[in-house]
Amino acid sequence: MLLSPVAAADAFSELRERMVREQIEGRGIRNAAVLGAMRSTPRHEFIPKGAGPAYADHPLPIGFDATISQPYVVALMTELLKPEKTHRILEVGTGSGYQAAVVSQLVSWVYTIEIVPELARSARENLARLGYANITVRPAGDGFAGWPERAPFEGILMTAAPVEIPAALIAQLANGGRLVAPVGPSRFQDLVLVEKSPEGKIRRSSYGGVSFVPMRRK
Ligand code: SAH
Repeated sequence: MLLSPVAAADAFSELRERMVREQIEGRGIRNAAVLGAMRSTPRHEFIPKGAGPAYADHPLPIGFDATISQPYVVALMTELLKPEKTHRILEVGTGSGYQAAVVSQLVSWVYTIEIVPELARSARENLARLGYANITVRPAGDGFAGWPERAPFEGILMTAAPVEIPAALIAQLANGGRLVAPVGPSRFQDLVLVEKSPEGKIRRSSYGGVSFVPMRRK
């Protein structure tokens, strides 16, 4: 979805441009569509007042023990997903809605689940206010179960960390689909890519250390 010209011309576009150049391109992200989405998403609109500098090279608190991820990590996970215009994507862990907003510009629809009702509500309102029209937020949803009514998904992004990838999510991944998740028992996890072949075979690879909030149980 194209964003309004307002977002493109806001006072933060210079900061955003520098963020993309130094933090994202500078670390090897090359997918032009991903770079474009990072350039056009007004990250400062997803940060609570006083939480910190929106375009800095680190995560920021958004309340309820949740964080908006570091810009580079958002870009890396989006690139690993290999999003295409026809794709329907599931995100587990809506948080601020920023990652959903970035991906939504590259695919046909984003379904996103958030377990904390207050975060789901504010993300939904904020995304609507900013004009994102292809994102559905599921409030008080449990990411462990995924969203079977909307499956299969060509891509799944987990932005809260499970100890092991829930079997329900692997089942809801389309053949040929990709799932990207931080996997591990503590605050330090491995960024894992799961690829499901056209025949349904699973291949798993690892992309280094990350730190996400752990997934919680209902
Ligand atoms: N993608 C978000 C960052 C999310 S932080 C962004 O761009 O801002 C991780 C989020 O996962 C938190 O909001 C947390 O409440 C949520 N979460 C934790 N456990 C969950 C679960 N079981 N199901 C759905 N969401 C969960």
